[in-house]
Amino acid sequence: MSTHTPIRKLSDNAINQIAAGEVVERPAAVVKELLENALDAQATKIDVSILDGGRHLVYVTDNGIGIPKAELTLALERHATSKIDGSDLLNIQSFGFRGEALPSIAAVARLEIQSRFGQDDAWSVTAEAGQIGALHPCALPHGTSVRVQDLFFATPARLKFLKSDRTETQAISDIVRHHALAHADVAFHVFEGNKTILRTTHETGDMFEARLARLRKILGSEFADNTLPIDATREDIDLQGFVSLPTFNRGTATWQYFIVNGRPVRDKLLVGALRGAYADVLPKGRHCAAVLFLTLPPQKVDVNVHPAKTELRFRDPGLVRGLVVSAIKHALAQAGCRTATTTQLGALGAFQAPNTSAARPKSTYQASYSSPVKSTAALTLQEPDKNFHQFTPEAPEPQQDMLAETPLGMARAQIHKNYILAETPTGFVLVDQHAAHERLVYEQLKTAYAARNVQTQTLLIPEVVEIPAPAIDALLEADAMLREAGLELEPFGQGAVCVRAIPALLLRENIKTLVQDIADALNETQDVLSERINHILATLACYGSVRSGRVLTVDEMNQMLRDMEATPLSSQCNHGRPTFVQLSLKDVERLFERR
Ligand code: ADP
Ligand code: MG
Repeated sequence: MSTHTPIRKLSDNAINQIAAGEVVERPAAVVKELLENALDAQATKIDVSILDGGRHLVYVTDNGIGIPKAELTLALERHATSKIDGSDLLNIQSFGFRGEALPSIAAVARLEIQSRFGQDDAWSVTAEAGQIGALHPCALPHGTSVRVQDLFFATPARLKFLKSDRTETQAISDIVRHHALAHADVAFHVFEGNKTILRTTHETGDMFEARLARLRKILGSEFADNTLPIDATREDIDLQGFVSLPTFNRGTATWQYFIVNGRPVRDKLLVGALRGAYADVLPKGRHCAAVLFLTLPPQKVDVNVHPAKTELRFRDPGLVRGLVVSAIKHALAQAGCRTATTTQLGALGAFQAPNTSAARPKSTYQASYSSPVKSTAALTLQEPDKNFHQFTPEAPEPQQDMLAETPLGMARAQIHKNYILAETPTGFVLVDQHAAHERLVYEQLKTAYAARNVQTQTLLIPEVVEIPAPAIDALLEADAMLREAGLELEPFGQGAVCVRAIPALLLRENIKTLVQDIADALNETQDVLSERINHILATLACYGSVRSGRVLTVDEMNQMLRDMEATPLSSQCNHGRPTFVQLSLKDVERLFERR
């Protein structure tokens, strides 16, 4: 017979230890809770000191309002908080409100809190594995400092779940960076031992400038120089912040920071919205960088989903997603003719002579040429070879005022049958004709498709393309959509389709590979049919575009430049690569050391 175990109430300490499992499951979570307490106390300067990835020490000092002596012990009790009175859980304005962090930490570690409330004397209280000690006077200039030593010493099983010190330090640094992005007006200083991991002073200027300055400090100049500002409102939801130009992209989504009502969060809906906004301009597997601030009435978002409060539930997810997607798409379209400065700097670097020291060997000039320079004389002009199409005789000297209205300038030459060299008022641009045309065709196709007005061109001799059976099914299943995109196919015996018409915009090239690629695209993506259309249109555009290797006339080239100026997103191709680079005369002069 089994023995009966009576129902008992758990001790407070056991309850706190259980809560600690959720609230402070690693040192970074301790840092997060202490940072948030400091911010709730209106601190403007917060120092974080850690040892061994936070395992042996997390020490957070702030210059906030402090805790009165009479409340110091109460702060360590479960569900004791100064931040809400419990009457309106839907209107939460502070980071904390659950009154769980300090008692949870106290239950699993050695904790000491020192605090000075206003001009009162400073007092300290300690707790060890849930045992709260007596109050002692201490010396502290202002604010609160909380020292957490030997985390999880009271619950050793949890220690096993900690990662290496380096990983834990990294997680702590991520938490502080996220908060530092959220609060540009607060100075953060993090050090491990005596090594500084992160240091910011409080930023000045208006909110926009301050946030950008903070972004530059935390995420680097390269991102800061390649951002688009976002500022949009829908109903009572505000969205502000910065996103990267598509040409500045990353292999992971770790460069995406969301801040909702001042609270750093990781939220699937927002990550998905970013992906949606960039779907057209980034290749698969690449991610944009972003720091986005969402401000909405507290009643419209529930932060009380999980004790760690990094997850959210929006009352109207569709509205939030719509705002994020449309604001960013709009900014990307406006950005039109900008490409990442990194691309430009990279190009400039590549231009530089391999050896720019003062004692430059005479042969350097030639060494930088890889093309067949026959002469050994110091400076011989190359015979323009068949890859070099110069149009100087036909192309009239561009008028200055005409140039001023055309940011991409006037075509002067085509180089290696793929690069258009155009002169601009301040320098020159080099356009990758294939990449540029691909974007132009894609945007035109999208517009035409949206209006259900894609012009088709019937092939005089239909093209038969061999395709494996499952892919044929996918193609035929998508038949209606493909027809609207301008592609007419029919089954052709076993293992083949017959292409009868293609979009008129496309050049009749590579129909075979095109159809095979579309079949692959249909097969591999799990999206619903209607969402695959952009993918299909992009594939069409890629195949239908002017290939590199096609000689263009001056008029064709200028037409392409003008089309690019008029087309949204024309500064990158459908794969996120830049379509042109720009070099200013200043840069050219630098190259020749005239400056
Ligand atoms: P919560 O933040 O959810 O209220 P905590 O356990 O984190 O719960 O903190 C309990 C209380 O202790 C807070 O409500 C606040 O009054 C006080 N407190 C904690 N940290 C600080 C601090 N750094 N400065 C001022 N008061 C603090
Ligand atoms: Mg708290």
